[in-house]
Amino acid sequence: MSSNVLALDTGNLYHRVGRPERAEVEAAVRTIIRWTGDDPDRDGLIETPARVTRALEEAFVGYAHDPAAMLQKCFDETDGYDEMIALRGVRFESHCEHHMAPIVGRAWVAYIPDGRVVGISKLARVVEAFARRMQIQERLTAQIANTIDDVLKPKGVGVVIKATHHCMTARGVHKPDTDLVTSRMLGCFRENGQLRQEFLAMTA
Ligand SMILES: [Zn+2]
Repeated sequence: MSSNVLALDTGNLYHRVGRPERAEVEAAVRTIIRWTGDDPDRDGLIETPARVTRALEEAFVGYAHDPAAMLQKCFDETDGYDEMIALRGVRFESHCEHHMAPIVGRAWVAYIPDGRVVGISKLARVVEAFARRMQIQERLTAQIANTIDDVLKPKGVGVVIKATHHCMTARGVHKPDTDLVTSRMLGCFRENGQLRQEFLAMTA
């Protein structure tokens, strides 16, 4: 996987695909309800298309956010702080692009600054902005690491994600107790085995 390709899609993508109106999405949900065999006009279902559309809006709000822009505001008065900064176990909910099924997990995000640091909530926001899109876990992991690397230009970045994929646990092969672990190590996290171990120990 080339980091250039992975680093591309960080911004607002609506202009590329042309965003349908809300009413079209609600009509599509009505179609799905009819297709299941139920009646979208009965009392219990009448509000369902609007609710599902709002839920989708929330699940995919990441397309409206630009994670690179979130990291632009950083601080350089760090008195030479040059050790690891690690945000541990950020909970997220994403959706796999193959089944639109939930991917539920946690992300560990670490970097070693080269003079510049960001507010810690920004790291969590970057995770959210990429998670709330159609994803595969491998790309989610790489996009978080690449964006921090591109914008902050730190000495190194490490990202580890552990997540459960509902397309695998609740359907398909039905393996409820499995999770998928992915990682991307850049700069000193890739070159320095001891540093990588120190970070990985935090994710155990
Ligand atoms: Zn899937």
